[in-house]
Amino acid sequence: MNDAATDTHCPYCALQCGMGLRRTDGPVPVTVVERPSFPVNQGALCGKGSNAAAVLAPGARLTTPLVRVDGELRPAGWDEALDRITEALAATARTHGRDAVGVFGGGGLTNEKAYLLGKFARVVLGTSAIDYNGRFCMSSAAAGGIRAFGLDRGLPFPVEDIPKAGCVILVGGNPAETMPPFVRYLRELQENGGRLIVVDPRRTRTAELADLHLAPRPGTDLALALGMLHLVVAGGLTDEAFIADRTTGWAETRAAAMAHWPEHVESVTGVPLPQLREAVRLFCEAPTGMVLTARGPEQQAKGTDTVSAWINLCLATGNAGRPNAGYGCLTGQGNGQGGREHGQKADQLPGYRKLDDPAARAHVAAVWGVDPESLPGPGRSAYELLDSLGTDVRALLLMGSNPVVSAPHSQHVTGRLRSLDFLAVSDVVLSETAALADVVLPVTQWAEETGTMTNLEGRVILRRKAVDAPGGVRSDLDVMHALAGRLGHGEGFPTEPEKVFDELRRASAGGPADYAGISYERIAAEDGVFWPCPSAEHPGTPRLFLDRFATPDGRARFTAVQHRPAAEEPDDAFPVRLTTGRVLAQYQSGAQTRRVAELNAASPGAFVELHPRLAERLGIQDGEQVAVVSRRGRTVTPARLTTAIRPDTVFMPFHWPGAANANVHTNPALDPVSRMPEFKACAVRLEPAGGPAPAD
Ligand code: SF4
Repeated sequence: MNDAATDTHCPYCALQCGMGLRRTDGPVPVTVVERPSFPVNQGALCGKGSNAAAVLAPGARLTTPLVRVDGELRPAGWDEALDRITEALAATARTHGRDAVGVFGGGGLTNEKAYLLGKFARVVLGTSAIDYNGRFCMSSAAAGGIRAFGLDRGLPFPVEDIPKAGCVILVGGNPAETMPPFVRYLRELQENGGRLIVVDPRRTRTAELADLHLAPRPGTDLALALGMLHLVVAGGLTDEAFIADRTTGWAETRAAAMAHWPEHVESVTGVPLPQLREAVRLFCEAPTGMVLTARGPEQQAKGTDTVSAWINLCLATGNAGRPNAGYGCLTGQGNGQGGREHGQKADQLPGYRKLDDPAARAHVAAVWGVDPESLPGPGRSAYELLDSLGTDVRALLLMGSNPVVSAPHSQHVTGRLRSLDFLAVSDVVLSETAALADVVLPVTQWAEETGTMTNLEGRVILRRKAVDAPGGVRSDLDVMHALAGRLGHGEGFPTEPEKVFDELRRASAGGPADYAGISYERIAAEDGVFWPCPSAEHPGTPRLFLDRFATPDGRARFTAVQHRPAAEEPDDAFPVRLTTGRVLAQYQSGAQTRRVAELNAASPGAFVELHPRLAERLGIQDGEQVAVVSRRGRTVTPARLTTAIRPDTVFMPFHWPGAANANVHTNPALDPVSRMPEFKACAVRLEPAGGPAPAD
């Protein structure tokens, strides 16, 4: 068989690279081929994308429901599995109240699934206890964007604008490993004469490309941004006309920045003052500038304020609301953008509406055909929801997430999951979280189903079904339809993705993330449509804020912010900073990529990266097993020595479970605005654990 390829997109990150899938006669039912016509990646794929078809192979995924009997998960029929979920959810609500039933979603779910999951929670279960793992991804950037601009869209411009900026500051992101095809935009920037500044405690592959690399201590990006703003003001480099015409709140922000003396910033961040001055010079001499943040500054207990500090730098220099300039966030998860717009977040309704807004409730309730009064109010954030399992929330339905590996303080979260009266998980593979469940539902994935995603630019794209799922597998939409029917809601939960999308369009109409004018036909014809797009005649909005910001007065808002230490600073018992992140060949919790032989060959396991000077002081050899110990637990992984990291900091990738799981250590201290946990900075000590690492 060698028919034409089906145009679709990668199953992994927020770049959502275009690819083709061609049917084969082999055990893997499709092969990935280039799709040069899609503008974002123009055919380029990283190893994760080019090997994506492997997760469709028999043996790599679940093909039958599993039900726990006498402590063991056993194969079961769909009716038995669905009945068991229905009975458990209904009994829990009867006995403990509706909020005792929780729902946990994922930033990889299609817009249709995320939308229907939010509706299922509020209409069928009547629970406020819903949130999703995207909270752990970009919620600080979202909160900072809304605070400043009145709207959160990861990038307010298409990626094609990045090479046209004069200078880009990339803060705490490593796209050379996390989304390699994106790097071409940074290279084009430099080929055009623009300058790239990378802020990262590690000299990553991305930092290697930079014209200037600043390596602050983890958790001090906020001080760094304040120091830069201080130098901008002191140097008379502010754009006073822009500040006067298009912003509010400058006086307080200026005063806060002037209180952060550059010498103090140097001592807090560890970034030499001449480098700080050079960064300001490069940024302010450029005709236009952009600041792009990623998880480094965002995954902190002060992540929202840190994002605000970088936005303040953009606003003070006039780098917002005009072409080829501005602040943006490099969203991480595949549908990190769309997943936060349509109602699986604890405080949101579809269209990025707020659940506590009476007009929003009335609009969405009318689309859903329910009384606005029947909709529950806002619920807990993701970590708070997970922390309440077994006490307040007694039964949980979880879709497309693996918090046993990906949640902060993961051993505690695993304990909370084990303490539930009932756990149901729908997933493609038997993830570490699914292995704890009472019922596991095998669901379709990516190439086996159609649905829309919204990439990091706010471009709504269409993933097309390329191959039938194995027998025994159903879609998440089927699951919600079946459960809703069993729970007395026979109507309102369609199983056809396009029908769900059409309802989503109506529910989002008039909201900040307005999809009303976007259709499957338009997406196919236009290579995606940028929201907001309020009508079929509207061209979509690739570039936001050019005329006005989305605030009531149309002005961007400065927010005066202060640096503060990480929630857990090093001390005598735990003297080293730990930061975490990703590697090239694995993705998030690794539930899919750890099952792909080519990716495992490239990145077979966890490690702890440390500087040779720190290693010498601790008597640790390269490749030796090292125990990392924090207040929350102990892991053992091989040491990897490199001069590319600060001597006061160690790094662990977070893709692996068990004794190698970096999230054993990460600190669940939450940002007060975004409720983002502090993944990026905690305190640990290192001890030789004896012997070389076992051979892979
Ligand atoms: S960069 Fe992201 S979307 Fe593109 S191929 Fe790699 S994982 Fe997939």
